Amino acid sequence: MNRRSFIKNASYTGAGIAAAATGISCNSGASHPDQEQVKEISVKNNKNKPIAICTWGFTKANETAGKALDSGMNALDAAIKACAVEEENIKNTTVGKGGAPDREGNVTLDACVMDSNGDCGAVVCVENITNVAALARVVMEKTPHVMLAATGAEELAYKHGFQREDLLTESSKKSYQEWLKTSEYKPIINIENHDTIGVLCMDKNGDIAGACTTSGLSYKMKGRIGDSPIIGSGLFIDNEIGGAAATGMGEEIMKTVGSFLIVELMRQGKSPQEACEAAVKRIVAKNPNHTNFQVAYIAMNKAGETGSYCIHPGFAMMEYKNEHNKRIETVSYL
Ligand code: ASP
Repeated sequence: MNRRSFIKNASYTGAGIAAAATGISCNSGASHPDQEQVKEISVKNNKNKPIAICTWGFTKANETAGKALDSGMNALDAAIKACAVEEENIKNTTVGKGGAPDREGNVTLDACVMDSNGDCGAVVCVENITNVAALARVVMEKTPHVMLAATGAEELAYKHGFQREDLLTESSKKSYQEWLKTSEYKPIINIENHDTIGVLCMDKNGDIAGACTTSGLSYKMKGRIGDSPIIGSGLFIDNEIGGAAATGMGEEIMKTVGSFLIVELMRQGKSPQEACEAAVKRIVAKNPNHTNFQVAYIAMNKAGETGSYCIHPGFAMMEYKNEHNKRIETVSYL
């Protein structure tokens, strides 16, 4: 039986949940020495669901997801709905419409989604489409592929009823003209900036899904892609274990496949907080230049525990639990 059909069957029998709760491998069915250290995840006792968490202080987006989950929406729909709030917010200069352009003046967006059954979709370098997280879902559901780029993704969008929009706003045009005066290209994430939105949702059934959407680095090189649309880097979900999402310097996140790493650390028994800390510390240990860039992670496990960690102060995670949306100032390495 392959993994996906196991999960499907397990959801009818409850076997998958029981296996996750005891740390018994769902793939082999046999216990493994590593798993002796696996902490028990009390899935059945999770009274906190539904839960939504997201990167940065995106209050409205996270509340939108939380309320949708409360009213019975599934985790994937809720995560994409939260992303749409920021994609359509033209004041947000790092996501969707109004996002900063590349160095040639073109706004190109990246996004991905991952569902509780392990399916995923992504789009990169997409112009003229605002809701790219929803478009990533179209790739996942309507094509045999995981990732589509540029005009291929844009054409798919039109076929599925997405509207063509000019993503450059008056304000982002002005900032770009200003930037052109020096054309200084230092790919350093401003730690005070409100950046990529990554959203992790757990619905009333206890299923976890996520979405991540961004315009990437401001004034990036043409064709540059960061971590955000890369499954395993900007986002990763394993519904038996939990999920993680990233923001910050994409190149550093990709080098350590950060979100996948966090989920694997949780599989080995770390709490979401411990796993986020270990993933940040791995980057710090490998890169003496870490004082010059920000990386931040958020994570959630199957028991409904959450965590976040970052290199520099100034990052916050939003958390919606028990009908309450709150901002959590994240502890930083520095
Ligand atoms: N991670 C994004 C990227 O590298 C940027 C961000 O989160 O601000 O494209």
